[in-house]
Amino acid sequence: MDYDTVIVRYGEIFLKSDYVRKSFEDVLVRNMRRRLESDKVAYRIYQRRHRIYVETGSAEAACESLKTVFGIVSLSPATKTGSGLPELTESAVALARTAIKPGESFAVRAQRVGSHPFSSKDVEEAAGARILEELDAVVDLEEPEKTVYVEIRDDEAYVYDKKVEGVGGMPYGTQGGLVSLLSTGIDSPVAAWMMMRRGCKVSFLHFGSLEEVEPIVKRLEYFCNQELMVWCIPHEPVLEAIGAEAGKYTCVVCKRFMHRAAELLAEKIHASGIVSGENVGQVASQTLENLEVIDCLRMPVYRPLVAMDKEEIIAVAKRIGTYELAVKGTKCPYVPDKPSTRAKLEEVLAAEEKIGIEKLLKDAWDSLVFGER
Ligand code: ATP
Ligand code: MG
Repeated sequence: MDYDTVIVRYGEIFLKSDYVRKSFEDVLVRNMRRRLESDKVAYRIYQRRHRIYVETGSAEAACESLKTVFGIVSLSPATKTGSGLPELTESAVALARTAIKPGESFAVRAQRVGSHPFSSKDVEEAAGARILEELDAVVDLEEPEKTVYVEIRDDEAYVYDKKVEGVGGMPYGTQGGLVSLLSTGIDSPVAAWMMMRRGCKVSFLHFGSLEEVEPIVKRLEYFCNQELMVWCIPHEPVLEAIGAEAGKYTCVVCKRFMHRAAELLAEKIHASGIVSGENVGQVASQTLENLEVIDCLRMPVYRPLVAMDKEEIIAVAKRIGTYELAVKGTKCPYVPDKPSTRAKLEEVLAAEEKIGIEKLLKDAWDSLVFGER
């Protein structure tokens, strides 16, 4: 049986007031349109209470395309049918013919919204009985191998047999803006993606060249279907100046510097915070004592990876396709032999004084370039 529709289910937006829900739903629909268009799937979208439907001749391709759109919890390729009992039953049988293999066990599950002259249970029994008549199959209501779902909403109904998991989160753009400190490593693209998944709009600051982060930015753009902005600051002069004076505090001073530059950028573009891929305990600069000293901003710093294990971060990076793009195995040549794991603020401030950090920050700010792409 050919699917002709995708049922799109969203999550937390449910919890919002009607007004907020409506506006979040509109953002979600706009993001879905962009994705379907960029993936060249022909479609027509229509909305009903608490559901979005995509009418399309390529329902399975549309599910694949939409499952990474933020805000979508699950999707089902489905067949639309009328809401009369005979029609429903026959659609369920037609679906069962392609979904259920000989000898398999099945169950019919029906859900109903609106008023109808039959109950959900009536639908399950009538469709179940017809499937048994037509096919070599057995009923198992506890642990069926296949489930035929019937969803009836007023005078429209759908039959389907599978749910594709979506990525969840909130529609991109429903929250404010953040500046994401993006390196060419494994962690920071995952951190940015996680905040994007919460609906936050991200812009990037990279210490280094545009070319080295371009593939990562492009990949992240796929998820929100819009162009993301990137600013770059040459890293070498900053590292040289810090490395010459900061000794064991080089990494801590370097991170404080990056955070301060990110805050300046956030102020410039009216963003409300910073995103970093820092994590507790992963590298020497990421002890709690060092993070305490690194945290020198007025703005909040979001560290979505803070409590994740490296394996978990890598799994996400692989899932979102940024793992392959990370530059691996290059160690920063300025990392001292014995980096401090217990930075003392007074000593760090003294080192920054010696470096002339304010001037360095001003020079870095003057060298800020917008990554024209
Ligand atoms: P990543 O894998 O994201 O590079 P990491 O495990 O290598 O992180 P650090 O090198 O200490 O850890 O970097 C911590 C965070 O500082 C990064 O996650 C990123 O947010 C930021 N950062 C590091 N290097 C750069 C850079 N060159 N440009 C911008 N931000 C950076
Ligand atoms: Mg790194």
